[in-house]
Amino acid sequence: MDFLTEKNVNCPFCDARLTLLIDESAGSQTYTEDCHVCCQPMEVQITQEAEGYLHVDLRQE
Ligand SMILES: [Zn+2]
Repeated sequence: MDFLTEKNVNCPFCDARLTLLIDESAGSQTYTEDCHVCCQPMEVQITQEAEGYLHVDLRQE
């Protein structure tokens, strides 16, 4: 089974369009990922809601 899902987001630093690969089976999670364009560290906060929908928030670390 493949639990990876793609989410399109905008970098909070440079506003570049990014595609994040999210492991749905891990549920709610927070991790840090470097923007592929400007290389700034952004905090990725994933919240799993009732129907399995994933809400993604990006913050400047
Ligand atoms: Zn960026």
